[in-house]
Amino acid sequence: MPPTAASDPTTQPFPTRMYIDGSWRDGDAGKTLAVINPADESVVAEVAYAEGAEAGRAIEAAARAFPAWKALSAYDRAKILKKTAELMRERADRIARAMTMEQGKPLAEAKAEVLHSADTFEWFGEEAKRAYGRIIPPTNVSKRYYTIKHPVGVVGTITPWNFPAALPSRKIGPALAAGCTVVSRPADQTPITLILMVECLADAGVPPGVVNLVIGPARPFADALFAHPAVRKISFTGSTEVGKELIRRSADQVKRLSLELGGHAPLIVFPDADVQQVAQAAVIGKFRNNGQVCIAPSRFYVHEKVAKDFTEAAVELTKKLKVGNGLEDGVQVGPMFEARALDKTQGLIDDARGKGAQVLTGGGRSSRFEKGYWFEPTVLTNVDGAMKLMTDEPFAPVMPILDFDKLDDVIAAANATPYGLAAYVFTNDLTVATRMAEGLEAGIIGINDPIPATPQCPFGGMKESGVGRELGSEGLDAYFETKYVAVGLRQS
Ligand code: NAP
Repeated sequence: MPPTAASDPTTQPFPTRMYIDGSWRDGDAGKTLAVINPADESVVAEVAYAEGAEAGRAIEAAARAFPAWKALSAYDRAKILKKTAELMRERADRIARAMTMEQGKPLAEAKAEVLHSADTFEWFGEEAKRAYGRIIPPTNVSKRYYTIKHPVGVVGTITPWNFPAALPSRKIGPALAAGCTVVSRPADQTPITLILMVECLADAGVPPGVVNLVIGPARPFADALFAHPAVRKISFTGSTEVGKELIRRSADQVKRLSLELGGHAPLIVFPDADVQQVAQAAVIGKFRNNGQVCIAPSRFYVHEKVAKDFTEAAVELTKKLKVGNGLEDGVQVGPMFEARALDKTQGLIDDARGKGAQVLTGGGRSSRFEKGYWFEPTVLTNVDGAMKLMTDEPFAPVMPILDFDKLDDVIAAANATPYGLAAYVFTNDLTVATRMAEGLEAGIIGINDPIPATPQCPFGGMKESGVGRELGSEGLDAYFETKYVAVGLRQS
């Protein structure tokens, strides 16, 4: 029998509390924070909000839990992470619904993100079984040298609102797999997804104190992490500006940092590629999550021989995108995340128009909706490097198209930014693909692939796009210290 509205777990009220030392808790002062649905500005839920000592208590709990968690075998930790993944898959519809309501992305995208996050937990549990040390040949026959991997310690995580499941899973998954304990903070705007994920971790048997969830203002949370000597690492995803601040603040206690920061990815189309197929891939990559994706393509360089065909196809496909509330069937593009984003996006487009760009579709707020934060998917041409949308990270549903002639010129243009997160190349010419992969300054290169992120491959940026890598075996190594052991043998 199908569930009724009253019994359907996907539509039950969402949990709203923090998780500290194995208990679900309200904030000390009883304060709450309204979570707003960007599609209609309604209140999704009021969640508990920290005001004082909650982060400190969570850190203390994580420090107490560390020795016993670290002492478990990788196989025992993997069992808990696998169970977490199973629970996330069972509860994927409910978690996805929460994500769509607090973040705005279409339900199908939200569900895919939850399943990707479940895979991430499972993959890191498995990978930790292969966290081998090394035996190193000694120079002297009376010595033996080897290395072992040691979990870093208590880890603090800070994540933004755009991928409220995937980004925490890339931090909590490997940290737990390695034997670290965690104090995690979601963005104020999207806490419910992480509450539901932490429920899965708790129900899978993660012991008290090993994972803690604090919902509260960012600055005091970061202050607590930086002040406490038990916190040995902070893993942050967010803007380059805040990342730089964290680098400066980490100096006092030499805290380890993993930083996943901003991006401004070029997408480059060569004339041998199938223009219709590339336009399809480009539109999918661009308007996924409304362009609010760190690796979203945001500068489109198209070879002059195919620029006209590509532009026409991209405009047609963009016009056909179904924009609406992400809970409705078939919606491909939801609202933008907050009112401020509308102003910023409009500013970028107005600046480009003022400097000669031509808007081919979109270009402004959508007037179809009475409430919510709606912007029309936008395509522009006659773009040049002096426009702000070519230098500032747009994080918006905007596709600026430029043309190019020579391979070396397009590499130079693509690299002419402080960012170096992702880059995309569309060609079937192996030599061109190889030269581009080697010449582009980006940590992630998608060749004929607009959506390259996957748990088993390293993800992260060069230049001002970050420090370190998440996902892949590199993403597990980020939660280990390498210990070198030298053994002198007794001389007989
Ligand atoms: P943001 O302002 O840097 O915020 C990111 C997170 O840090 C939020 O949880 C925020 O809390 C918190 N925060 C803000 N100020 C802080 C401070 N002084 N100390 C410690 N934490 C602080 O970034 P955003 O604009 O929300 O997110 C979009 C950015 O994230 C873009 O630049 C995007 O490229 C980047 N991003 C990068 C990746 C990647 O993997 N490289 C992935 C996704 C997003 P509040 O929400 O309370 O302000």
